[in-house]
Amino acid sequence: MSHSERTFIAVKPDGVQRGLTSKILARFEDRGYKLVGIKLIQADEQLLSQHYAEHVGKPFFPKMVSFMMSGPILATVWEGKDVVKQGRVILGATNPLSNAPGTIRGDFGIDLGRNVCHGSDSVESANREISLWFKKEELVQWESNQAKWIYE
Ligand code: UDP
Repeated sequence: MSHSERTFIAVKPDGVQRGLTSKILARFEDRGYKLVGIKLIQADEQLLSQHYAEHVGKPFFPKMVSFMMSGPILATVWEGKDVVKQGRVILGATNPLSNAPGTIRGDFGIDLGRNVCHGSDSVESANREISLWFKKEELVQWESNQAKWIYE
């Protein structure tokens, strides 16, 4: 559990369209995580089939992919201690209706297919997703001046 653990967090097209990007970024910044990559991207079918490889062929897949291509996605990479697991906690459970308020999906979503955000579910998938969505040179290594006030 190092301070350099990274996760991939994306604001899906519904979150971008609804103007929720800054609120979602703020949840991660407020917690103390460090932003190391960010871009707005129009995803294509090839990228999404790789990203959601485990879901290819499932009944919901075509509708989900066409939704994910319906507008821009805000792709981000965050760094910090336990960020993969904590990122999932900040997002909440996949189905917004299963969440109490306090999580992004619990605060901003209702339907499963409009759950506002994506977050990697393990360190392995985080590494895979980061290299899928970002080129190495798009990730910025920098020292945060806040680190000593966040970590003991
Ligand atoms: N999804 C859907 N219908 C389903 C199952 C999943 O639209 O029946 C969407 C949902 O938006 C979810 C995404 O597909 O976020 C990927 O599903 P997964 O189980 O990987 O959930 P996640 O990792 O996003 O919480």
